[in-house]
Amino acid sequence: MSAPLFEKVAFIGLGLIGSSLARVMIAENLANQIVASTRSQKTLDDAKALGLIQEGYSDPIEAVKGADLVILALPVRATQKVLESIQPYLSENVILTDVGSTKGNVVDAAKAVFGEHLPAGFVPGHPIAGAEHTGVHAGKVDLFANHKVILTPLPSSADWAVEKLIQLWQAAKAEVICMDVDKHDEVLAHTSHLPHLMAFNLVEQLANREDNLDIFRYAAGGFRDFSRIAASDPQMWHDIFFANKKAILNAVDGFEKQLATLRKLIEDENSQALMGLLGHAQAARQHFNHMLANKPLMEKNKVTTQQFTILPGQKKFQGKFTVPGDKSVSHRSIMFGAIAEGTTHVTGFLEGEDALATLQAFRDMGVSIEGPKNGEVTIHGVGMHGLKAPASALYMGNSGTSMRLLSGMLAAQKFDSVMTGDASLTKRPMERIAKPLREMGALIQTTGERGTPPVSISGSQQLKGIQYDLPMASAQVKSGILLAGLWAEGETAVTEPEPTRDHSERMLRAFGYDVKTEGNRISLQGGGKLVATEIQVPSDISSAAFFMVGAAITEGSDVTLEAVGINPTRTGVIEILKQMGADLTVENERIAGGEPIADIRIRGSRTLKGIHMPEDQVPLAIDEFPALFIAAACAEGQTILTGAAELRVKESDRIQVMANGLKIMGIDCTPTDDGIIIEGKGKAGEWGAIFTGGEIESHHDHRIAMSFSMAGLRTSGEIKIVGTETVATSFPTFTALANQAGLPIQVAE
Ligand code: NAP
Repeated sequence: MSAPLFEKVAFIGLGLIGSSLARVMIAENLANQIVASTRSQKTLDDAKALGLIQEGYSDPIEAVKGADLVILALPVRATQKVLESIQPYLSENVILTDVGSTKGNVVDAAKAVFGEHLPAGFVPGHPIAGAEHTGVHAGKVDLFANHKVILTPLPSSADWAVEKLIQLWQAAKAEVICMDVDKHDEVLAHTSHLPHLMAFNLVEQLANREDNLDIFRYAAGGFRDFSRIAASDPQMWHDIFFANKKAILNAVDGFEKQLATLRKLIEDENSQALMGLLGHAQAARQHFNHMLANKPLMEKNKVTTQQFTILPGQKKFQGKFTVPGDKSVSHRSIMFGAIAEGTTHVTGFLEGEDALATLQAFRDMGVSIEGPKNGEVTIHGVGMHGLKAPASALYMGNSGTSMRLLSGMLAAQKFDSVMTGDASLTKRPMERIAKPLREMGALIQTTGERGTPPVSISGSQQLKGIQYDLPMASAQVKSGILLAGLWAEGETAVTEPEPTRDHSERMLRAFGYDVKTEGNRISLQGGGKLVATEIQVPSDISSAAFFMVGAAITEGSDVTLEAVGINPTRTGVIEILKQMGADLTVENERIAGGEPIADIRIRGSRTLKGIHMPEDQVPLAIDEFPALFIAAACAEGQTILTGAAELRVKESDRIQVMANGLKIMGIDCTPTDDGIIIEGKGKAGEWGAIFTGGEIESHHDHRIAMSFSMAGLRTSGEIKIVGTETVATSFPTFTALANQAGLPIQVAE
């Protein structure tokens, strides 16, 4: 066993916070000896009885003698007095820290006692964790777990002291952040002190009313939630409000200003601006909530896993369904609606995290957006020159589409901007869009290592049109350049080596912008304008594919998938299923928001047959192969796929993961470098079980999970699919729609 981190630890004050840290030290064996000094003998006796300290002293001087760590865990107002008495008795290399909720006044107290030459071991700190109850009995060993602890090292603080304190707090399972003292006090004034002040104030306001009894009796959950923190210790908050007076008064001023704005919007019945403000706040809350909630989920041993179970037995598969909207089109509907003149209504918007990041970015640039609610979004366009500088960096989450397309738009704005993203987006290459934008005159930097985000853009540049030959096919880069071209002088043209998804071109035309496509050359003239329109986001054909396959392998099924996008760059799955003999018809073809859409009807009337999948369809069906492999297993004869090496580098190695699962379920198959050979078990006219059931590992790949779910329509044994939680992000209604159609899927966390 390695030696404890500290020899002797002295707590001055041993209430909620101090005793929680003492509990951690004991559990993690961090100190050879723990002692304390508090005001009352009772606290010391209780602490001894609880086994938290070896010795207790009424005089702090006795406690700190020989200690290599001294922790002030008392009200901040008592700091100076305690420091004055203990100063002559501190060991030479002592680490001296505190846990107070304000930091500026603790540092002032230390300077008053030590003078300008503060001890090297002095490092103020503040755990952002607490509870309404105080005292030595209220402490908990896990109080700090998954919470943040802010250390505010000073110029005089030694690295060794900071490092040891980081180790201490990490042992408490806290996340340690270092910050400067003023920043700490400003941040806390806004995020902790102001909310407490408002909670006390609201309760006081209502308590002073004559009808206060009625008010509290009928108070709803909102009041309970909002006022919970007004139950905190008045003495502590009294001290904090004085200790952090300057920053708190600033925060109160900001609050009053914002409240006056809100008040005026209500007084003037300014519906559009009020919706914009409330929508922006709601979205920001969800956004931050997500950021806050994400952390523990990402911890290795805490990854939530979900499991689907499907029981054997005859099933029908019928009905009319609308699957979620297409992601690419959802992104663009917000971007183009924002810079259009007039109000754009969007239906079928995919409320997934990526498209929501785009939506938030435009709200941050001052665009009033209502929704999304049940897939409906209303965007009050600000025109080509109406975007405003965002207050801080735009956060793009995991969305490469948002970052690449927005690079083009932001390069042409009058203001500077920065885009950041999550850990995965931060690794994706951004130079491929930055380079052509620079050729247009943009000042754009990829400030991460190796041309990765953050992307930093200096505004006020007049861009010039370019003729750009794309070195590799990419719809995102093409779109980013064309979008910059909207503000550029003259013509902007992109020539692509092979056709890529053309959602941007189609939607720009739907917004009344003239975009020319001549072979592989796409061009537009800068200086025009977009006119608001109605956008119906097509249902995503990749999501529809699971239900298409389900219907194709089930006797007597009849499924119609409504308003599915049939953009020619995406329809490989339709062509392949038809070649396999599926009874599939494309009905009611129409155009919506520039995109071709149709209802797709599939009936289970004949057994599929194995084929050599046409290689020219592979890029047009790349995301649909996992589902098509299930169809192939139910077909009569062999199915061969070649030319699909890309499948090995998707969210999982889709060839290997599918082959493993198929084998578990009794299907003979052979994975190859660029495809797979599957021996179909179907027989013409027979509709019995094909799969044996078994436990499938989806590797958290949503498409693998949904594909094997469809195998549940033809299984003789129970199917368990592990790691299905990712389904919710791309297709939140998947299990509900499957259940409705006749395929019951049990979901267990
Ligand atoms: P607590 O439970 O009330 O404990 C305070 C401790 O300090 C008690 O042991 C008390 O002694 C002792 N004490 C009070 N005045 C003293 C004095 N003049 N000289 C010596 N000891 C004195 O308070 P806490 O919640 O642990 O808070 C301690 C510090 O942590 C405060 O600075 C607070 O701002 C900070 N903090 C609190 C929270 C929270 O949510 N509570 C969160 C983060 C940081 P007795 O036991 O003898 O009364």
